[in-house]
Parts: sequence; structure tokens; C-alpha cells
Amino acid sequence: MSERNVVILGSGPAGLTAAIYAARADLRPLVIAGRQAGGQLMLTSEVENFPGFPEGIMGPELMDNMRRQAERFGAEFIDEDATEVDFKKAPLAVMTEGEKYEARAIIVATGASARWLGLPSEARLMGRGVSACATCDGFFFRGKDVAVVGGGDTALEEALFLTKFASSVTVIHRRHELRASKIMQDRALNHPKMRFIWDSVVYDVLGKDHVEGVQVENVKSHERSDVAVQGLFVAIGYTPNTDIFRGQLELDEKGYIRMYAGSRTNVEGVFVAGDVEDFHYRQAVTAAGAGCRAAMDAEVFLEGVA
Ligand code: NAP
Repeated sequence: MSERNVVILGSGPAGLTAAIYAARADLRPLVIAGRQAGGQLMLTSEVENFPGFPEGIMGPELMDNMRRQAERFGAEFIDEDATEVDFKKAPLAVMTEGEKYEARAIIVATGASARWLGLPSEARLMGRGVSACATCDGFFFRGKDVAVVGGGDTALEEALFLTKFASSVTVIHRRHELRASKIMQDRALNHPKMRFIWDSVVYDVLGKDHVEGVQVENVKSHERSDVAVQGLFVAIGYTPNTDIFRGQLELDEKGYIRMYAGSRTNVEGVFVAGDVEDFHYRQAVTAAGAGCRAAMDAEVFLEGVA
């Protein structure tokens, strides 16, 4: 087992952009891409807001392009999950199921996963009206009625964004009190296209090939009713993929990695990029930019310790 210059964990836009930059800097990065390589864009259909693709591009195709671009400059890929890390001593170490990799610098770009309701109908209709990203998919709901589940800032932000396209946006929240910030609440509660179903959860997503409605259950009366919508946006929060970094990197109270100057973490030689750190913007293009930054910071760090 030889020591690597840079090991990159994750293969979404952040990890792959870091790989392109690190490879072009002649660092011969190793990307531990994960069994489900490609990140959240593998779950999207058409991406219309990634600059450079005026006609749009399919999410999986965009990720494949990025990967081939990194490979062209010498990045190596392993399609396995990192199962454990040891950042307590140099060299830094990453374990997969069958191997241990040592590196002088690490870029963590393991992303975040949208939380889902966990209903079989939700999984079946994913990409067919069920989405977790209004910025990605809102455009397809022009003139339609949609519902958003959740009562936090993400839910209201998604709902307000959707009012640009949809005829009506119904927020379904399990309590009668929103968790979102006051300013978002004021905007949402006063918006003419928005309505609210309180104290209710989505019991089922209706429709055979595409969403035709949702069945909601009032958590107090247990009464169920159907609401006709063509889209359901689930916005009940995200979980950063940071389980393996607990006790190794400083995390915030929600489990996101804390980032310091540039893209540094609290551990020397470990850098971070993308949704695993950024709960706010969460866009492919911002993650790609963060990956570029992390690779440049890693390069400067490696020159300094050479
Ligand atoms: P969040 O604040 O944790 O809110 C999640 C919402 O989903 C809550 O209303 C919660 O209900 C609901 N929920 C959770 N699990 C559910 C389930 N199984 N079924 C139904 N509803 C469920 O998450 P977030 O909105 O993604 O925000 C995360 C963080 O990012 C927050 O700190 C937020 O302020 C921040 N953020 C800020 C902005 C902004 O400033 N523009 C934008 C987005 C996010 P309960 O309320 O009953 O728990």
C-alpha cells in the first residue's frame, strides 16, 4: 500500500471537480467514489441550471462526463464505500471493506441525503412527480397544483420557489406551528398561491405512473382526505453523510462538517467540499465550485509540507 498525495471521498459534483483539479495539478488523486457513485444528481432527470448546457443535460450523463474528465487527467476511481477513517495521525488513513488507503491530504465530499417519508408509493413515483428539489424540478410544474411536505425553512423556500410556476402550492405540515424562520413564515402565509394543511401527514401518494394526488391524514382526528396535486416535494430535511467522521472531524450540532478558512477542517490536511458542509445552497454548481477550492487548498498544503 503506497501513500497517496490526495484521496477524495465522494463522487458527486464536489468530489469529481476536486478530482479534475487535483489530477490536472499532477497529484494523481484516488477517488473513493462510493457504491452509489455520482451523488444526488444520479437521482435527477434533466438538469437545466448547470452552466454550459443550454439544452439541459441528464443528471447521470453530467456525472459521467465529470468522471471521464477526471480520469482523462489521471484520477483513479474505486467504486466502494469508505467504511472508516483515521485522521488522528499522519499519514491520514481511509478504510474500505477490503483495503486501507493512506494519504497526505484528504478531500471529504460525501454529500448529504434528502430525507424521505419512507412510503412505498413515494419511492415508486420518484422522478414521476415526487421530488426533493424544487430548484431542479419546479420548472416542470408550470400551471400545475403541487404539494410540499415539511414546515422548516427548506420547505417554505421550496414552496415559495414553486409559486413561480405552479397554480397552487399546498404545504402539508405535521404540526400547527411552522419551524421556519419568521420572515419565511410571513412570506409564505401571505402568499396568494399558497395554502396550508396543518396537523397532517402524507399517508399515501396517489397515481399509477405519475403523481395524481396525496392522501393526507390528520394526526389529531385521524381523518383521511385526498388532495389532487400533480407534484409532491418532500422537504423534511437532509442528513449529511458524516457517520464515519464522528470523533475524527469537528461536526456542527446537525452533523455537518465544520469548515474553517478556505475549505479547511479542524484536522490538518483534511479539506471539505459540497453538501456535506453546505446546508444552504446545495446546488451542483456550488458543490463543483467548492470541489475546485478544496483541490486548490490541498495542492497549496502539499507544497507546504513537501
Ligand atoms: P428542519 O429545520 O429540520 O425542518 C424539517 C421539517 O420537516 C420540520 O418542519 C419537521 O417537522 C418536518 N419533518 C421532519 N421529519 C418529518 C416526517 N417524517 N414527516 C413529516 N414532516 C417531517 O430542516 P430544513 O428545513 O431542511 O432546514 C435545515 C437547516 O437549514 C435549518 O437550520 C434551516 O434554518 C436552514 N435553512 C435555512 C434556509 C435559509 O435561511 N434561507 C433555507 C433552508 C434551510 P417539525 O417541525 O414538526 O419537527
